[in-house]
Amino acid sequence: MILLKYFSLILGISMLAACGNGQETEISEENPLNVVATTSMIADLMERIGGETVEVSGLMGPGVDPHDYQPSTSDVNTMAEADLIAYNGLMLEERFVEVFEQLDQRGVPSIIMADALNEGDLLDPEEDEESLEFDPHIWFSVTHWEAVTAHAADQLSEIDPDNEDYYQENADSYLTELDELRTYIEERIEEVPEQSRYLVTAHDAFQYFGEEFGFDVIGLQGLNTQTEAGTGDISGLADFLVDNQINAVFVESSVSPRNIEALIEAARSRGHEVENAGELYSDALGSSEADADTYLKMYRSNIDTIVDGLAD
Ligand SMILES: [Zn+2]
Repeated sequence: MILLKYFSLILGISMLAACGNGQETEISEENPLNVVATTSMIADLMERIGGETVEVSGLMGPGVDPHDYQPSTSDVNTMAEADLIAYNGLMLEERFVEVFEQLDQRGVPSIIMADALNEGDLLDPEEDEESLEFDPHIWFSVTHWEAVTAHAADQLSEIDPDNEDYYQENADSYLTELDELRTYIEERIEEVPEQSRYLVTAHDAFQYFGEEFGFDVIGLQGLNTQTEAGTGDISGLADFLVDNQINAVFVESSVSPRNIEALIEAARSRGHEVENAGELYSDALGSSEADADTYLKMYRSNIDTIVDGLAD
């Protein structure tokens, strides 16, 4: 039923959009490419690469959980009218799958971030995840995000070859900033003693970060926020905190803090004080007021929170 509903919706709209999409005029600042991105990380990336020749609409704002996000009718309309859709893939946007298929059949081009990577670059889910074959949180590997940047620039250049040089230049300067970010992360992590490099968070978004920068990462809820943490998980993780003398855990902006609070309580009942060391951005960027509204600022904010929480 849902599929039928989307199909007729998109069908109706793309009849209207057909005249707009078949534009022959050159893509420029005055006539930008209309890009729709799912998550805020991807919207930010497309803005950096596309610069003044793209107009990016992001569907998910600060604090929005992409695993759980159901596209609204207005989202479907926005996507059907777009010149280009940009999304993560690997089932991060689980409830968009049918819409993506329909848009693809209607000939709306898409850039899928995960297509930049080989299977060997991807991490498996730690435990049984019904819908996930691979860990979708690829943006937390800076190396992977660099590959994604290059891929997105190439794809954009294919769609709009007239501006290829411009997109490649934008990508190059962004890659330099990603390199600077990596240096910043490595330098700050030095402040955390090696035996304290445990990152305990609400859900398992940080495995790529852990892999790249040498942290043990434990998510209370698994990769997908829709799998609930059981009391057994909380109790087992509380024992783990005691055994490894872990004194700080973190909440996430797009996940309820309830389970992390229960974990802190469970550790306290074992005579072990654990601090809620602050909020990490996992599956969405933060607000501009929080100075976390770009990928680079979001990652720096996370690193500062992690290091300040775990350093002696
Ligand atoms: Zn997630």
